[in-house]
Amino acid sequence: MGVVELRGIVIGENQNGESSKRILVLAKDVGRVMLSARGAKNTKSKLLSGTQLFSYCDFLVYEGKGFYSLTQADLIESFYGIRMDMDKLAEAVYLAEIVEKTCPLGMEQDETLRLLLYALAALDKTQLPPRLISRIFEVKYLQLSGFLSDGGCMVCGMEEEPLFFNETSGEFLCKAHCHGGEIPLLSAVQKAISFVAQREEKQIFAFTLSEEAMEQMDAVLRRYLEVHMGVSLKSREFSKEL
Ligand SMILES: [Zn+2]
Repeated sequence: MGVVELRGIVIGENQNGESSKRILVLAKDVGRVMLSARGAKNTKSKLLSGTQLFSYCDFLVYEGKGFYSLTQADLIESFYGIRMDMDKLAEAVYLAEIVEKTCPLGMEQDETLRLLLYALAALDKTQLPPRLISRIFEVKYLQLSGFLSDGGCMVCGMEEEPLFFNETSGEFLCKAHCHGGEIPLLSAVQKAISFVAQREEKQIFAFTLSEEAMEQMDAVLRRYLEVHMGVSLKSREFSKEL
């Protein structure tokens, strides 16, 4: 108990009365943590900007018995550009939600935190299609979470093209290990997945895909997330409706 410093990013927020809110922060060294922010919705509050979604801050918090109360938020990065573009915003909301829904509680999540920061920076500062940034994030996030290896056949590890995707089992398979109902991966999709799996940090946000390859990568990853992580989020599809 007492005053602690946390560096992290706001991945969720909800109302807490007229002028206050609770924010969910993905913080360095501690992972997911809920902070209550008194008066943070007042336009004159010094907590106003630091408690918005995607704000990356140094938070000063008072730790009580089973709760954290925010006393100060020093903004490091607001990713302001994301809010100026509906496509970018839709993807950023999705990324925050998938992390909120799937990253385990009560443990350090520094790799996920870094990945999220790189993805938001890519949305904010690059010209990559926002949907592609989300797909790249998904591949790396699945890998960090232990659900995806390097992109080869899940039985024998073979990486030659083409690999196949089994939609029922959510497996990537070589020809020899197909057991029926697989679709062949487009070369560009197979290359994209292994490109992301084999690189680190911001290097993963460094390619583009044709519309056809984007569609397949989208469908394959949607199913992969469902099978292996048990998630199927409405916010993932939101940008397509814009
Ligand atoms: Zn195989």
